[in-house]
Amino acid sequence: MYNCAKCPGYCCSYPIIPLTKRDVERLAKHFGLGFREARAKFTKVDGDEKYAMRRKADVHFGRICRFFDTEARRCTIYKARPTICREYPGGRCGYYDFLASERNSQEDPDHIASTWNK
Ligand code: SF4
Ligand code: SF4
Repeated sequence: MYNCAKCPGYCCSYPIIPLTKRDVERLAKHFGLGFREARAKFTKVDGDEKYAMRRKADVHFGRICRFFDTEARRCTIYKARPTICREYPGGRCGYYDFLASERNSQEDPDHIASTWNK
């Protein structure tokens, strides 16, 4: 129903990507860091979220997850990605439906990403 490999990573640009304590522990282990160091390096408090993912600049979406490769348009920590990223989007992805529909109607397989690159 969707293909993340053909998408510029819209869901990775959501303003708040909430992590659990277990997610931070997984990241700490992945990078060989202590929990506190990983928490400070990769997350920040944002409203009610104790462990919101830190983000960085992105030419397409403005801001995006700090672990997103903005050139290759993919996750750089796939095996250590947070729970929410493993579960999202479930059955269908609305953004991918939109993207696929637009690319089909424009007869342009790179529509949107190619436009943003100009
Ligand atoms: S889940 Fe949807 S928005 Fe996220 S990368 Fe995959 S297709 Fe794109
Ligand atoms: S951890 Fe990976 S999949 Fe999750 S938001 Fe960041 S780049 Fe996207």
